[in-house]
Amino acid sequence: MVEPYEALLKKAYTHVTEPSESVERFSVPEARSYIEGKTTVLENFADIADVLRRDQDHLLKFLLGELGTAGKIDGSRAIFNGKFEPALISSLIKSYTEDYVICSECGKPDTRLVKDDRVLLLRCDACGGHRPVRKRKARTEPVANEVTEGATLDVEVQSVSRRGDGVVRMGKYILYIPGGKPGQKVKVRITRVSGSIVFTERLP
Ligand SMILES: [Zn+2]
Repeated sequence: MVEPYEALLKKAYTHVTEPSESVERFSVPEARSYIEGKTTVLENFADIADVLRRDQDHLLKFLLGELGTAGKIDGSRAIFNGKFEPALISSLIKSYTEDYVICSECGKPDTRLVKDDRVLLLRCDACGGHRPVRKRKARTEPVANEVTEGATLDVEVQSVSRRGDGVVRMGKYILYIPGGKPGQKVKVRITRVSGSIVFTERLP
């Protein structure tokens, strides 16, 4: 039986508005993390992995690599050694979602990671597209010896700390930029390095 055009149209619309595996329904839970003693706890780690439909170990490995630290899964939480700003954890979850979940062709999250030879591919069930998983962009990643007191750097502010300073993540370092706003490109001089925490002053 051939369905009349109107019926098909109606069906199509119903399909669009009904929450299925659609983009509308897909929203990554905001990372809830806090510093506890010398560790950082990501409270809703398992939830995030669930929504992203990714292996917890894969997500953990990514986070540990980016933070340059050790850590473990503890029930539904993840615990990282070291103190990391919630803004940093949030931005890493966003990076992971962009690199390992969202299809760059159609922007949908209905994807799977598959190994083709030795290349990890992101295969999209929604549009059939696939691409190699992006290697993490070098961004403005400095070699370690650039992060020394007195060094000047051009950086792009990524997020804002609870105290209102701009935050730039560089490998294991977190730079604080006084008054920096996300997206702002600034020239800074490093005034103090304390472990992985780097304080800076703005240069004109
Ligand atoms: Zn796609």
